[in-house]
Amino acid sequence: MLGGIEAGGTKFVCAVGEAPDRIEDKLVIPTETPEKTFSAVRDFFRAHLPLEALGVASFGPIDLSPASSAYGALLNTPKLAWRNASYIKALSTLDCPIAVDTDVNGAALGEQTYGAGQGCDTLAYVTVGTGIGAGVVHQGKSLIGAGHYELGHIRPPRDPERDPYEGCCPSHGDCLEGLASGPAIMERWGAALNELSGLAPAIDLIADYLGHLALTLALAHRPDRILFGGGVMKTPGLIESVRVKTFGLVGGYVDLPAPDRFIQPPGLGDDAGVVGAVRLAENMRTQAG
Ligand code: ZN
Repeated sequence: MLGGIEAGGTKFVCAVGEAPDRIEDKLVIPTETPEKTFSAVRDFFRAHLPLEALGVASFGPIDLSPASSAYGALLNTPKLAWRNASYIKALSTLDCPIAVDTDVNGAALGEQTYGAGQGCDTLAYVTVGTGIGAGVVHQGKSLIGAGHYELGHIRPPRDPERDPYEGCCPSHGDCLEGLASGPAIMERWGAALNELSGLAPAIDLIADYLGHLALTLALAHRPDRILFGGGVMKTPGLIESVRVKTFGLVGGYVDLPAPDRFIQPPGLGDDAGVVGAVRLAENMRTQAG
């Protein structure tokens, strides 16, 4: 059996199965303190031992450098109780190899293997929700540098006349996440984007900002496809608008597939994260074997 955890700011989704597309048991656990949540996570997996490997696709920031003594530990997350919490340490009693990656890299892996990224050599996965993040996978492996990518914090231009909202990122104010995440939309307009869906200018503005992320991905990573998931992306009309903005910004400079092939919603829906987490475990088993 393989195990997977999609670790998010509000819930942990734990799953076991023989393969990422054959999940046999699943449990959703609320994200409370690390002590409480990890205790419930261990209880779930103990009922399914032995595990060949466990994959964790986690919210961040998180230390992913295999040489680091803090590998698999959360870094300066705004969730203070979770700072320095380590998946490797907390789950060591399960006695199996543990692979840790970001939630978006995990989702990208799951989508590349089983979802809307099948057939793509290089795939980018973007989530637009409580935060904004992007993961990139190339031939079944996620890409990182000295740390994982932080593309939610690029700085799209903001016209103060069109958008007087100064952004909500504690570090940057009007970075992409500060302007286009769910909390930014709520603070600016007092409602979620899908509740404003008659309001075309709001969709147009958010799509402009997200188009800059797709532009950056298209130029830096040359993906075959970019998937846009997360709660904000469920707004009708938004993904279509992001396609138009992206192609306008790219300006034909690089060759891209047709807009509706290049930018798509995830194929696994809300399961992308947990399927990706089990896929991380499967990769680890392959390496070990
Ligand atoms: Zn920021």
